[in-house]
Amino acid sequence: MVHRITLIPGDGIGPEVTEGARRCIEATGVKIEWDLAIAGQDAKDKTGELLPQAVLDSIKKNKAAIKGPIITPIGEGFRSVNVAIRHALDLYACLRPAKSYPGVKSYYKDIDLVIVRENSEDLYAGIEFEQGKPETKEIISSIEKYTKKKIRPDSGISIKPISKFASERIVKFAFEYALRYNRKKVTAVHKANIMKFSDGLFLKSAREVAKRYEGKVAFEEMIVDNMCMQLVQKPHNFDLLVLPNVYGDILSDLCAGLVGGLGVAPGANIGEEMAVFEAVHGSAPKYKGKNKVNPTAMILSGVLMLRYIKEDKAADRLENAIREVLAEGKSVTYDLKPTRDDPSAVGTKEMADAIISHLT
Ligand code: NAD
Repeated sequence: MVHRITLIPGDGIGPEVTEGARRCIEATGVKIEWDLAIAGQDAKDKTGELLPQAVLDSIKKNKAAIKGPIITPIGEGFRSVNVAIRHALDLYACLRPAKSYPGVKSYYKDIDLVIVRENSEDLYAGIEFEQGKPETKEIISSIEKYTKKKIRPDSGISIKPISKFASERIVKFAFEYALRYNRKKVTAVHKANIMKFSDGLFLKSAREVAKRYEGKVAFEEMIVDNMCMQLVQKPHNFDLLVLPNVYGDILSDLCAGLVGGLGVAPGANIGEEMAVFEAVHGSAPKYKGKNKVNPTAMILSGVLMLRYIKEDKAADRLENAIREVLAEGKSVTYDLKPTRDDPSAVGTKEMADAIISHLT
């Protein structure tokens, strides 16, 4: 079977790391026709738009995309092309595995965690009122009227909507993922003791959904501040975490830090019908075109993509090849060497070549 996949190279180091991922995926032997789609600065230069409709149409048609990082220009109309893609295609689940690989420097060993972050609402909904604007004053006076609580008149306001619908949907996604990938426990993370009507609703929804999986996957709940401490002290006690958007954003970086940082942190944004696979890191503009950065996060995102299109054997082979190259520590980029100026570090392309040569 030939899969058709959208390929979005992105900005900065994006084209280099997506090229490494594309070559590694192809080397597994899985037949793929790539549908090249340009978003970000190149698209803006050619078409005047950072995110042309053709990019969204391509993902909708092909149902899967692999995407390099895209810069967020400061002072442009919308906040981020990346957030815009997730919203436009309703990619409501952000999946971020955090796994230890021997050879990658870290304070911890044998970590194997999965973060499932809600992607569509919470403080990321982008509903904000600027300090001093007439509508902000109106909102402040309405809030004072309904709650009898004082807000300083020179405040800015960000709204945190959390719905029953989106909470149930993300927790169901987390449990279904746990069943498919043999995860034993789902931990719902919240601050429901303080935000009773937003996080409280998330937690109530999580408890309801969890009942349907009783006897199949264990369920526990944890307040987010305690969760941070426990993750640092005993990360091996956890398996899969499901969180509202903002906590998911912060804790997925914390977990990336537990396993060696951005160079090895893959991710995916998944909806009911389609998914976009991308590394957690950004476009690192200072390294653009230098053939220097680590392609591993992007190639591991490719491993997630192969699993999504049900090419599990190819995914396992590619992950094993990455594991071997990391463990050998020879053909790896500067960030994976004992010191950053190690002369034996190889480039992005050469590390991808080494991974390809370890494919069995
Ligand atoms: P960044 O992740 O691009 O870079 C931060 C630092 O991390 C780099 O200077 C580099 O030292 C290191 N780094 C990142 N990726 C690496 C890799 N593959 N190998 C080795 N080292 C790596 O973060 P930033 O500088 O905050 O953001 C730059 C741009 O990227 C911004 O415009 C931002 O909006 C955008 N961004 C995009 C995405 C996305 O497309 N999903 C995500 C985050 C940031």
